[in-house]
Parts: sequence; structure tokens; C-alpha cells
Amino acid sequence: MKPLIVANWKCNPTTLKGAKLLFGSVKKGVKNIKRAEVVICPPFVYLPVLGASAFAKGYGGLTFGSQDCFWEKSGAFTGETSPIMLKDIGCQYVIIGHSERRRYFGETDEMINKKIKAALKAKLKPIFCIGETEEEREKGETPEILKSQIEKGLNKISKKEIKNIVIAYEPVWAIGTGKPCDIDEAQKMGLLIRKIIAKFYSRSISENLPILYGGSVDSKNAAGYVKEAQLQGLLVGGASLDPKEFIKLVKDVTKT
Ligand code: PEP
Repeated sequence: MKPLIVANWKCNPTTLKGAKLLFGSVKKGVKNIKRAEVVICPPFVYLPVLGASAFAKGYGGLTFGSQDCFWEKSGAFTGETSPIMLKDIGCQYVIIGHSERRRYFGETDEMINKKIKAALKAKLKPIFCIGETEEEREKGETPEILKSQIEKGLNKISKKEIKNIVIAYEPVWAIGTGKPCDIDEAQKMGLLIRKIIAKFYSRSISENLPILYGGSVDSKNAAGYVKEAQLQGLLVGGASLDPKEFIKLVKDVTKT
């Protein structure tokens, strides 16, 4: 499997001009990179303008994803965006359960589970985010937290469906802090996640499940998570807003 490098722009940039400039530079920089799939996840409003539909089948190594979705397909749900709409405008992926959504918007494991199911139904690939807080880590609770997030988030998701899911291990203490997780620890967490998945599903499903790392990834540490920690890609926040840095990061990961 090619490494998956997901750019989470979060609530940035603040102008359409800025979004076009950023996307234009990234597109040019990663053009014809064949050894990775780069998924751009801009704010919803920029998806059609940046031409997400033209990348629906992947083009020049790029595809689009969204940063969230709702669990219903349509109806009286002011402010929400459904997975069907996202698929229709060309998205292939959707980030679900990001810690910022859990923290600032009260998303629970149950809501995340509904979103994952709805995304799968719309044929979007969920990038399911899990990870412990600093306090949980210090108390040695990481294994239980990951197990509980996985058990609840993937509740009643079949063996067939899980094959379309990507897991992103994103320790909350590493997101946006400039304190990335050590490569060794990320590798251990990847193995722990596989062990949990093997218990709920099967060993072969767990071995084939793509696991990404996210949390203060930059061009200096990116390759280590893929080449040494043997994870299948990265979820990149801050560094994805700097085209030079992001392109360098993609190139480093794909360098043989
Ligand atoms: C993220 O947005 O998921 C993330 C990991 O952010 P950052 O790379 O800025 O830590």
C-alpha cells in the first residue's frame, strides 16, 4: 500500500484566494508523485471551488476529503453536511472523530460511530481518529482509552466494512503542540491498535488495516513514522498549511 498523507487544513485559510494559492502550490509540488496518495481536506466551502470532483478518481497523486460529516443523508439539520453531498462533489475520504471535534463540539464515541456508518454507506472512506490525552497517558490509561474508542467507534461495523476504514492514531498531547510522539512509541501504539482490532475482527484484517500517525508531523520527522515505525501514512495539520514544508514532507516520505 502506498503511504497515505492527509492534509488537514482545519479552519484555514481565511480567504478563497489563500485556499487557491495553497492548493495550487501543493498540486504543483506533488504532481506525479506516484509513491504516495495525498488527500487534501480543506474547509467544506473550498471543496467545490478547488475542483474536488476533478480529483474524484485521484489525479496526479491527489484526492480530496472533508474534515467531518453528519450522520443523516438529508433533512432539517441546519448547518450540517451529509456524506452523500461530500461524495457527490468528489470527496473520497472523511476525517471522523478528530480530537478537536470531540473537545470543542462535544462529539461522543456514539456520534462518531453513527458518522462512520453513514460515511461508509455513502462510499466515503472514514479516517477514524483516536488518541489519548496527556493526563490519560500520564496515568497509564492509553491502552484502555484506545480500546474503548475503537470498541465504541466501530460498534456494529462489519468485517467487510472495516476494510474501507483508515485509523489515525493522534495522541491529543502531540496535536499542534510541537511535541511529536517518539517514533518508537508511535510504532508501539500502532502494534497495540492492531492487537485490539485483531481481537474484535481478525488477525488478517488487523494486518491489512492502514494506520496513520498524526501530531506535530513536519518534514524532519515524517519519514520516520512511515519507514521506521511502519505506519501507513500521516495526518498532517499545521505543516500542511505551508506548501514548501508540506511538499518536502511528502517527498521525504516517498524517497527510497
Ligand atoms: C491534526 O490536525 O490532526 C494534527 C495532527 O495537527 P498538527 O499536525 O498541527 O499537530
